[in-house]
Amino acid sequence: MSEYDVCVLGSFMKDLVASAERRPLPGETLHGTGFAEFLGGKGVNQAIAAARMGARTAIVGTIGEDRYGEEFLELLSANGVDASWVVRHPSLGTGVGLPLVLPDGGNSIIIVSRANAAITAADVDAATEALVASKVLSVQLELPVEASHSALRLASTAGVTTILTPAPVGPVDPALAAYVDVLVPNEVEAAALTGLDCEDESQVPAIARKLAEDWDLRGCVVTLGARGAYVLDRDGGYEERIAAHQVATVDTVGAGDAFCGSLAASLAHDAPLIEAARLANAAGALSTTTNGAAASAPTHEAARSLLT
Ligand code: ADP
Repeated sequence: MSEYDVCVLGSFMKDLVASAERRPLPGETLHGTGFAEFLGGKGVNQAIAAARMGARTAIVGTIGEDRYGEEFLELLSANGVDASWVVRHPSLGTGVGLPLVLPDGGNSIIIVSRANAAITAADVDAATEALVASKVLSVQLELPVEASHSALRLASTAGVTTILTPAPVGPVDPALAAYVDVLVPNEVEAAALTGLDCEDESQVPAIARKLAEDWDLRGCVVTLGARGAYVLDRDGGYEERIAAHQVATVDTVGAGDAFCGSLAASLAHDAPLIEAARLANAAGALSTTTNGAAASAPTHEAARSLLT
């Protein structure tokens, strides 16, 4: 039996969110109207989401020897995520995000990767035991590409099912793509990777098919925000559009990560891709009903109850 259902390789970002009436002008100091702190980063968000869906989960990544690093370790522990494979960098602090939110909901964000950027392929090799002892590996692109490449290669070669969230958006090395089983892009990422227009709903099946063929995927799930998701399962030989759940949305930050963490947990429990995507669609919807990133991932019970 595998030691973990899901292993996530990814980032840790402490978000310090300021609200203000407008952006400050160059050289200006402006009084803000609000402040909030959240624990996020795609890696952490997905790991917490998978654990809350009942998966035995481990995370591989790098934090600093600072207060924010401690907060992440407490969060992982409180959610039952194994942090044994998290490296603490001796001099670089934990990654931070500094969003400025305007009254109309628009935002500008500065992110400073700090310890996240210091993870090396050697750090990933040191976590081989976790990567190959999992049923599913989930990776995003917020860490240096060598680390993601190394983890995908190790896991895929060992027969672990691999999921890639291609975010932040950008070109993907075909050598890395070769180790991906299931790709989970949002609309912007899917459009950028194919050069096709995802805004036009009728294009989505063609986009999913193109990605599946170009990347030789087992499955592709395009998340469509408030419109739901599109599932292409090559193994199962079907495609299906899933409608979004109608919920009282307050904050969509982390919806894609809640979706992906949930998808990974279900695939680790041997669910067919369409069933995994249905539950993930519920998890993604519920995550938008509360503020925050990692903290907004729902429990398995809550996501299931939305399906009945
Ligand atoms: P990302 O956060 O990566 O941009 P999406 O915005 O596509 O990803 O959201 C991921 C998933 O979360 C969607 O496929 C859907 O299942 C769910 N979701 C997101 N926004 C909403 C919403 N407003 N209402 C219901 N479900 C949503």
